[in-house]
Amino acid sequence: MSDIDTVLVLNAGSSSLKYQLVQPDSALVMAHGIVERIGESEGRVELVRGDDVTEFIGEIVDHQAGLSKVFELFSDAGHDLESEGITAVGHRVVHGGPRFHRPTVVDDSLIEAIKDLEDLAPLHNPVNLLGIEAIRRLLPEVPSVVVFDTAYFHGLPEHVAAYAIDRELALEHHIRRYGFHGTSHEYVSTRTAEFLEADLGTLNQIVLHLGNGASASAISGGRPVETSMGLTPLEGLVMGTRSGDIDAGVVMYLKRAAGLDVDDIDVVLNRRSGLKGLCGENDFRALIQMVDDGDPAATLAYNVYIHRLRKYIGAYMVTLGRTDTIVFTAGVGENNAKVRADTMAGLENFGIVIDTERNAARSREPRIISTDDSAVTVLVVPTNEELAIARQSVEALNDDR
Ligand code: ADP
Repeated sequence: MSDIDTVLVLNAGSSSLKYQLVQPDSALVMAHGIVERIGESEGRVELVRGDDVTEFIGEIVDHQAGLSKVFELFSDAGHDLESEGITAVGHRVVHGGPRFHRPTVVDDSLIEAIKDLEDLAPLHNPVNLLGIEAIRRLLPEVPSVVVFDTAYFHGLPEHVAAYAIDRELALEHHIRRYGFHGTSHEYVSTRTAEFLEADLGTLNQIVLHLGNGASASAISGGRPVETSMGLTPLEGLVMGTRSGDIDAGVVMYLKRAAGLDVDDIDVVLNRRSGLKGLCGENDFRALIQMVDDGDPAATLAYNVYIHRLRKYIGAYMVTLGRTDTIVFTAGVGENNAKVRADTMAGLENFGIVIDTERNAARSREPRIISTDDSAVTVLVVPTNEELAIARQSVEALNDDR
């Protein structure tokens, strides 16, 4: 066993499982990959080590079978994961509910507690558990740690977290705004302060995590004071397949007028809405192509997306009073210069001036995209949820010992 911590980070979805083997101290990614189409007759397992990519194509009956295949690919490449001394397995679990706001070492009672939260995150928590249960069977000696996506926002001010609904009902059923993508918002805001060589404690930041799921946060002095997602990841920005904000009356109306039941409506709002609902496409690269080709539905989808984003930025600038940084991250935020330019257009009166050349440059590193005299510094800072989970997992284990 070496002294260097190595963490296997797992992010389990319903039919896929992303993994990364990372050294938290150095941020060195030793390997990463994905198991796709679990449960289908032709699944795929990929292992990427540096420039070397190997894969398995064939039936993958469940998450455990997928992970076993990952181990086989490692062993074909000359690495025995079981004997190589993995310090911990770090898991992303979406909803920590009212109880969990710290990285937590897995035991049977935690698994039961996560199961109890199923109603809060029916689409996410049960599938996250599949990853935990699979790896516990495959690597029983290695401790697992759960990092909750809601944890960072646990300390949101009470008046920000509260919905203006019947208080008793809200308290009884733990209905409040929890916020999600917390690992990313925390990592990116901290990384931004490091990059700017500024004290996190003095910065007022707006972080825009724009991936397939999307969320915004306002962070003051290293503490979140607002975020766009709520009880579930459905609230807020327009997303790939989720509506973001709608009048809750739409839910009742869909039941009464369209005869949909609650599970149908769940599917409509979570999987058939957002960009996909508006124009049939949720991948931003394809969407931009459609916009460039003059597709009216794609153009409407794009405009709704940008409008909602700008609305949130305006609200958060007022919430913060003074804004020092606006930070773009995740797949769309890191890669799509047009989204950044359109989101920030015409805001000179608010002290926001984008430098067109800086915005167009491509890089995997943190970078400033505003002009030197822009009062608000606008940046692109790549997120790294896996690294953050790996670091928090090791910390949780050290605290536990
Ligand atoms: P998630 O982790 O939520 O699945 P990601 O952060 O990977 O999402 O972001 C996925 C989105 O990012 C997709 O809409 C994809 O089209 C977009 N994206 C990824 N790479 C690029 C790129 N090079 N240019 C434009 N958009 C990109």
